[in-house]
Amino acid sequence: MRIGSGFDVHRLAEDRELILGGVRIPFEKGLLGHSDADVLVHALIDAILGALCLGDIGQLFPDSDEAYRGADSVKLLVSVVGLMEERGFEIGNADLTVIAERPKMAPHIAAMRRNIASALNTAEENVSVKATTTEKLGFTGREEGIAAFASVLLTEI
Ligand code: MG
Repeated sequence: MRIGSGFDVHRLAEDRELILGGVRIPFEKGLLGHSDADVLVHALIDAILGALCLGDIGQLFPDSDEAYRGADSVKLLVSVVGLMEERGFEIGNADLTVIAERPKMAPHIAAMRRNIASALNTAEENVSVKATTTEKLGFTGREEGIAAFASVLLTEI
């Protein structure tokens, strides 16, 4: 077995779509980034890369590379899952947390789990997506940005 953890933050900005776990969420702001800025998927990618000791998302998909402008982060995740499978591993389970004051995540959690489980080639019962606020404290509480944590366990195929 191999264990990995990931963390990411993106800034909230006007005139951007909010995409979390591959789900377009109606909101007055979205996350700023070179790709689609899906902070939840980015944390998960870093957790898998961490478990495999393969560096981090910035090394694999540099934000200086025009190829990744506006990139669908779920597609980046699928390519990282390919690297994992080439090395003989599959997902045991993944546990993800998104930290945002708003919007309410509950209506979107099921779709996020579905998208992520599909990208991970695993069953939905192996994918947990949780959401919390920081009680209006800090940058997430002031709605300046959204943060995400991810933990994964990989098992040998
Ligand atoms: Mg990121």
